[in-house]
Amino acid sequence: MNDIIIAGGGVAAFECACAARKQNPDVKITIYSGEEVLPYRRPALSALAASDGEIPGTFFIKSKEFYDDDSIDVKCSVRVEKINPAAHTVELSDGQVVSYGKLIIATGSAARRIPVPGADGENCFVLRDYRDLMLIRRRVKAGRCAVIGGGLLGLELADSLLKRGCSVTIIEGADRLLPRNLDVVGSGIIKNKISKCGNLELLVGKKVREITQSSVVLDDGTVPCDTVFFSTGVTPVYPECDGLAVDCGIVVDQNMKSSIEDIYAAGDCAQFGQCVCGLYTTASAMGKIAGVCAAGGAAEYVADTPAARLNALGVKLFSAGVFDDSLAGESAQNGENYRRIFLKKDGSLAGAILIGDVSEAVKLLKQLNS
Ligand SMILES: Cc1cc2nc3c(=O)[nH]c(=O)nc-3n(C[C@H](O)[C@H](O)[C@H](O)COP(=O)(O)OP(=O)(O)OC[C@H]3O[C@@H](n4cnc5c(N)ncnc54)[C@H](O)[C@@H]3O)c2cc1C
Repeated sequence: MNDIIIAGGGVAAFECACAARKQNPDVKITIYSGEEVLPYRRPALSALAASDGEIPGTFFIKSKEFYDDDSIDVKCSVRVEKINPAAHTVELSDGQVVSYGKLIIATGSAARRIPVPGADGENCFVLRDYRDLMLIRRRVKAGRCAVIGGGLLGLELADSLLKRGCSVTIIEGADRLLPRNLDVVGSGIIKNKISKCGNLELLVGKKVREITQSSVVLDDGTVPCDTVFFSTGVTPVYPECDGLAVDCGIVVDQNMKSSIEDIYAAGDCAQFGQCVCGLYTTASAMGKIAGVCAAGGAAEYVADTPAARLNALGVKLFSAGVFDDSLAGESAQNGENYRRIFLKKDGSLAGAILIGDVSEAVKLLKQLNS
C-alpha cells in the first residue's frame, strides 16, 4: 500500500504533491485540506483585505485542471483529525478512516491571540486564512480598528485597513518596531515614516490588559475602537498523533522525516534544527523535499537565511542575517534611505538592512546564502 496522503492545504502541501508526482508518476496522491478552497498564495491575503474586489485567479497557486491533469486528488474542507501510526491510518473530519503508505503533515500554523480577557470577542479578528479574509471583507467596513502587534504582518494589515477606510491604531508591546528585523536606527526610521501616515496612530512599548466591545485597555490608557486585530505571531498546528516528536514544531531531519516511520512533515508546522521558520519560500522548499522523499526519492533540505520584506505604509524594507552591533560593517543614511551591512571576521556578509532603496536585496541575499 503506497498511497501518499498529505494533510494540509497550503504551499507546503502543494509542493509535496507536485514533487511526489514527479518522483513517482503512478502513486496515488490525496491532499486533505481544512480550507474550503484550493491551495493559494497566503501572503496575498494582506493586500486582498484592503478591498472587497474580485479575488484574482493568480491568488490560487494552480487551477483545478492542474490537479486533475496531475492526478492529485484535493479534498477541500476535510481535515485530518488524528493519525494512528501503528495502523497506518488517518481519521478525517467527515468520519472516514483512510489508510496511507506515506503521510506528509503540512498543516501549517494558526494565528495566536494574546491571552487577555475579551480576546475571543466577536469584535476580535485574525488574518490567517481565506475564511478570515472573507469575514473581514464582510464585517469590517470603515471604523476604528486596533491592530495588536506591530510586526511585518501587523504593519501590512494596518495598511490594508487604512485602504478599507478605517482609522487604525497599531499597538506594539516591544519598545521599538521590528526588533527582530532591524537595528535601533532602522526601527527609528520606520517609526518616523509610519507616524506620518494619516488616520494612523502608533503606540510602542504598550501592554494590553483587556479587550472590551469598544476598546483595547492598556496598562496606561485606553484605545477606543470597534474592531480589534491580533497580529501576535503563530503557533504550529498538527493532527493528534501518539509518539510524534514535537518541540516548537514537528521535529524533522534533512529528509523531512518525522520521528515516526513513514510520516513526514513540511512547512510552518515542521521544525528543522532549532527553527520553525514561518516563511513562504521555506515552506515551499521543505514541501518539495518531503514530496520527493515520501515518493521514494532522495533529497536533502538545506536551510537558507530567512529574509524579512515589507512594502506597506510607504515603507520599503529588506533585512536578513545577523544584526550584531559588535560586528564590523558599514552604514549609510540618506534621508529615508538606510543601508547597513554587517560583516563577519573573515569579511564575508553576516547581515544586511535596507530601507527605502531595496534594489540590492536579491544580490545581498544571494551573498548571505553563498
Ligand atoms: C497574511 C499573511 C501574510 C504573509 N506574508 C508573508 C510574506 O510576505 N512572506 C513570507 O515568506 N511569508 C508570509 N506569510 C507566511 C506564509 O504564508 C507561511 O509561512 C506559509 O503559508 C506556510 O505554508 P504551509 O503550507 O506550511 O502552511 P499554511 O500556509 O498555514 O497551510 C496549512 C494549511 O493546512 C490546513 N490545515 C490545518 N490543519 C489541518 C488538518 N488537521 N487537516 C487538514 N488541513 C489542515 C490549513 O487550513 C491551511 O490551509 C504570511 C502569512 C500570512 C497569514
